Amino acid sequence: MADPTGFMKHQRADARKRPTEDRLADWREVYAGLEPSTRDGQVREQATRCMDCGVPFCHSGSAGCPLGNLIPEWNDLVRRGDWGLASDRLHATNNFPEFTGKLCPAPCESACVLAISPESGGAVAIKRVEEAIAAVSWERDLVQPRVSTVSSGQKVAVVGSGPAGLAAAQQLTRAGHEVTVFERDDRLGGLLRYGIPEFKMEKKVLDRRLVQLRAEGTKFVTGCEVGGSGRGDLSVEDLRAGYEAVVLAVGALRGRDATDVPGRALSGVHLAMDHLVPSNRECEGDGPTPISAAGKHVIIIGGGDTGADCYGTATRQGALSVTQLDQYPRPPRQRDDERSPWPVWPWILRTYPAHEEAGERKFAVAVEGFVDDGAGNVRAVRLREVRVSRDPSTGRREVVPVNSQVEELPADLVLLAIGFEGVEHMPLLDGLGISLSPKGNLSCGADWQTSAPGVFVCGDAHRGASLVVWAIAEGRSVANAVDAFLTGASELPAPVHPT
Ligand code: SF4
Repeated sequence: MADPTGFMKHQRADARKRPTEDRLADWREVYAGLEPSTRDGQVREQATRCMDCGVPFCHSGSAGCPLGNLIPEWNDLVRRGDWGLASDRLHATNNFPEFTGKLCPAPCESACVLAISPESGGAVAIKRVEEAIAAVSWERDLVQPRVSTVSSGQKVAVVGSGPAGLAAAQQLTRAGHEVTVFERDDRLGGLLRYGIPEFKMEKKVLDRRLVQLRAEGTKFVTGCEVGGSGRGDLSVEDLRAGYEAVVLAVGALRGRDATDVPGRALSGVHLAMDHLVPSNRECEGDGPTPISAAGKHVIIIGGGDTGADCYGTATRQGALSVTQLDQYPRPPRQRDDERSPWPVWPWILRTYPAHEEAGERKFAVAVEGFVDDGAGNVRAVRLREVRVSRDPSTGRREVVPVNSQVEELPADLVLLAIGFEGVEHMPLLDGLGISLSPKGNLSCGADWQTSAPGVFVCGDAHRGASLVVWAIAEGRSVANAVDAFLTGASELPAPVHPT
């Protein structure tokens, strides 16, 4: 039984970050982690703040955890110091809690009833408790391979090794299918490997989980473009002949560009991923990135997660200055109306650790053009102050200048982090006869099956660029659908359904 007054006895306390000067001197994770002796007391105190609500909004629903994580249950187990059972209950709904504990923006916390009132001291620090359970699980060797005792004799190909593909592969392997994950890159992990910087999640965290998947029997093939015709690739014919079912977990990596902005073609203006991927490769030991921010004035266009990843990366590379631009006005740091009974996230200003380290953010501005230095390189960015509104007749978003003043910011490197437009074009889709939806994603029916029989889709490829927790939830759900397709019925969990 939870302590219903725990939140009145203990203040919310977030995880401690390493000192800024230490963070900027290396690529290691921003958060310091806790010694086991201190962690036990501190995290148990945080878990004690959970009231074990009769209807826990944190646990599921449109605003809570898509995985249906049993949050009040494991909060109470941590409160009682039963870390082993807490680990069991956390892994019952989440294949990779160490990923979500480090990377998820925690919709569960915004849905927590304690987020409603300022008097309550804020939401339960669910993400911190989750990460601590995951850390204890690894320290105490509680994460062991779960090798299936049955074999279906059916083969499944998973294309893509990001969080959705890995979750689908693990679930299907554990259900007794013979699963092979194909990855076109030279290393496994998709965005977890080459999109997310080391300072948010060190790659060793990914690597140790891959060891578990391999030990369970999942096979991996890297450097293989499915549908490609190069050496080491797998043709669509061989894919179809060799596998009873196919899961497409290919992500949604087509970056939104700014082709209509004058000067876009100048040297030094890049899509965010063109900066992040080689920077992550450099951290993996692949040699210096060709797009370093060292010694440069860096402008990042776009105020979201990817922009913040570029921000922290540029700072660590030794940028002269870093400025992040957002079309939207600076949100308040706290609710405007203290009497409002409604949760304030995400309408309050979201500050990423990278923003505390250096640089500045500008709000309510839009780029009017990139300025040439006379030799084809960008030397500045022209900005206007703007207001974002909706056209009442069409509902379309409009960005309207509020005055005629134009500001010019020096820039040697400009990074466009203005979102993703869907799945990249790849021969595999043509070969399978699958076309993209008007939104640029892959559509499916209620059973996650695309228009090609036996071919399923999950994760960003289906949903569009989204959170790691949604990728894992869709991976688990597609596994249920594939298992049912192959065997007639499935007992695997399906936490979410295609929309
Ligand atoms: Fe605990 Fe908050 Fe979930 Fe309620 S909503 S069960 S207080 S974490």
